[in-house]
Parts: sequence; C-alpha cells; structure tokens
Amino acid sequence: MRPFKYSGTGSVNAASQILAVNPNAKLLAGGTNLLDLMKEDVERPDELVDISRLNLTSVKMISGGVNTGGLSIGALDKNTDTANHPLVRQNFPLLTQAILAGASAQIRNMATTGGNLNQRTRCPYFYDIAMPCNKRQPGTGCGAFEGVNRNHAIFGWSENCIAVHPSDMCIALVALDAIVKVQGIDGTVRNIPFSGYHRLPGDMPQKDNNLNPGEIVIAIEIPKNNFAGKSYYLKVRDRASYAFALLSVAAALETEGNKIKQVRIAMGGVAHKPWRATEAENFLSGKIADEKNFKEAADTAMLMAKPLEHNQFKVELGKRAIVRALMQAMNGGRI
Ligand SMILES: Cc1cc2nc3c(=O)[nH]c(=O)nc-3n(C[C@H](O)[C@H](O)[C@H](O)COP(=O)(O)OP(=O)(O)OC[C@H]3O[C@@H](n4cnc5c(N)ncnc54)[C@H](O)[C@@H]3O)c2cc1C
Ligand code: SF4
Repeated sequence: MRPFKYSGTGSVNAASQILAVNPNAKLLAGGTNLLDLMKEDVERPDELVDISRLNLTSVKMISGGVNTGGLSIGALDKNTDTANHPLVRQNFPLLTQAILAGASAQIRNMATTGGNLNQRTRCPYFYDIAMPCNKRQPGTGCGAFEGVNRNHAIFGWSENCIAVHPSDMCIALVALDAIVKVQGIDGTVRNIPFSGYHRLPGDMPQKDNNLNPGEIVIAIEIPKNNFAGKSYYLKVRDRASYAFALLSVAAALETEGNKIKQVRIAMGGVAHKPWRATEAENFLSGKIADEKNFKEAADTAMLMAKPLEHNQFKVELGKRAIVRALMQAMNGGRI
C-alpha cells in the first residue's frame, strides 16, 4: 500500500472542503471496499478523509414535506442496522432483503449506506493492475471487452467499459424511487433521484456517479409506498453466499383486486448502473397480475439487451428471474 495522509474530520463541511482542495483525497467510511482497492494498488489516494465518526446515522420516518411517511437513512448507517431496523422491515422489506443478500454479516456490520452506493465495480480487469482498464486508467483500453465477459453488462454499455454496478442494496433503492441527498462545498443540499445518481460508462467510465467535486452523500430518502406486502429481491449468483449477483431483480407491486395498480422492476448485474425495467413496468400497469402477463413483461424488459460474447445466457436468465421475482412478490415475498 502506498503512503497517504490520514485526516480526521469533525463535519461534513470540513470533509467537503478537503475533497474540493485535493482531488486525490478519498472519503473513508466503513473501508470495506476502499481499503481492499488500496491494498491491490487499484485506488491510490494520497489522503483519506475519515468520515466514519460523523453524525450521519439515523433511520427515521420523514415527517413534513412531500415525503411525509417515507423513510430517511443516514449515509453512515451500517448496512446491518438499516436491514434490521423495524421501520425498514415493516415498511420497506425489499430493502432488507436486498441488503441481506449482499456480502457477509461481518462486512455488512462495517459497510455504510454511502459506501455501498459508491463501491466500485468488481470487474476482474479493474482489479488486475497488469491489465488495461479505462475505468482504472482512462485511455488504456478495456481488457474485458475482448476478454472474459461472462459477468458483464447487457444494457447501456459502451466499448470503453462493459462493467456492471455491484451493489444489491442499490437495486432495491432504484426500484423504490429513492432520493440521494448530497451536500456540496458551500453547504447546500441537493436531491438526486436514485436513477440519476449512477452513470452509464459512455466515454468517461472512470466516473461512476454524478457527484460534483466536493459533494458528499449525507442521506437517502425513500418515499412512502404501498409495496410492503408484495415485494421480493431475487439474487442469482454462482455460490449460495458471499458472491456478487450474476443477475438480480427487485420486484414490487401494488394491486387492486387482481389488477396491477403500480409495479416496480429493477435489475442488478446487467448494467453500469442499477437498471430500471420501465418498459416492462409500463406494460404491466393496469393489467391482471398473472404469470402470462409477467412473462410478456419480462420479454419486453429484455428486448433492448445487447449481450456480449460470454454473457448471452443473461437474456434468458433475466426473463426467468423477472417472472420469478414478480410471482414471489405476489406471494407476499415468501419463497
Ligand atoms: C468479500 C466481499 C463481498 C461482498 N459482497 C457484496 C455483495 O454480494 N453485494 C453487495 O452489494 N456488496 C458486496 N460487497 C461490497 C460491500 O457492500 C461494500 O464494500 C460496502 O458497502 C462499502 O461500504 P463502506 O462503508 O465500507 O465503503 P468504503 O470502502 O469506506 O467506501 C467505498 C467508496 O465510497 C466512497 N464513500 C463512502 N462514503 C461516502 C459518502 N458518504 N459520500 C460519497 N462517497 C462516499 C469512498 O470514498 C469510497 O470510494 C462485498 C464486499 C466484500 C469485501
Ligand atoms: S469493463 Fe470497465 S472496469 Fe472492466 S476492464 Fe473494461 S473498462 Fe475496466
């Protein structure tokens, strides 16, 4: 590991000022991703700004404003605490399921909301500093494009980068129309819709998100919804535990009689950002909630898929996973 300066900080504002002055500084939260990457020499910050002791921990219902009855989660709430919080379990069980599908108990005890959002891709070429990687070192090429790309994207990729976003939690958050609250260097707070927080790679794959220099995630808000009774997070992976998603689906429905009033479908392991299957949602809106319609919606969701050499199986897998997740959600989220 390379030498770096360690800066403790007493406020979001102070942390933000350091980031603004030093573009090679990085925030340190739980450290479960950043420190691994530094040990592998992939991330090379010359300064770590330790925000882990800032007062950004509180899971609470929102009272007042447009999001009354929704939920606010602090950027430094540990993933374990969020997943197990009674307000989350009762009102947003999709989020609990998604968090608990990720990593291990030990890692979730350290990992934070802000760190989870900003964790970096698990593309093996990104981790291997002997390989070309536009995300790690812009302009060097993409080792995965001509290499082994079984785990890579089928939506929204560019020839510059075909990596996928690794988080499980974020797939539930995009399905639930969450909002990311970020604070900038002048202290102002900006709301970013979750679907606009992460980026597609385009010609700047080194940039994972739409944060401006010096901006820090301070909280996530989830609007009130009626999905608690019918939601399900399905994660398909090579091992039963301790593995990232090959593909995942977050599904949530609100029904009236046998008809679908509202539906949310989001996918993980398919794109550089958490992927909302909006065409499938539009298709299902107002329709009868049955397997036939779910299958048609799943076909619609995968219509625009552009698989690579080694991941064509993700198209059929995606269809089946969407149908299964929706069926499980209709069954109250029970397996
Ligand atoms: C073995 C292993 C298995 C895993 N399996 C899974 C899995 O199956 N599913 C899954 O979803 N995840 C998995 N993870 C990833 C894990 O969820 C992340 O490492 C964790 O969520 C990162 O949180 P952290 O607080 O430790 O972040 P850190 O490592 O501290 O930070 C990560 C990044 O986020 C930035 N950052 C942190 N906080 C903020 C903030 N408030 N604002 C802006 N930027 C910020 C940091 O600067 C850094 O760039 C796994 C990790 C490991 C090591
Ligand atoms: S897919 Fe992206 S992260 Fe992986 S090697 Fe290519 S540029 Fe790097």
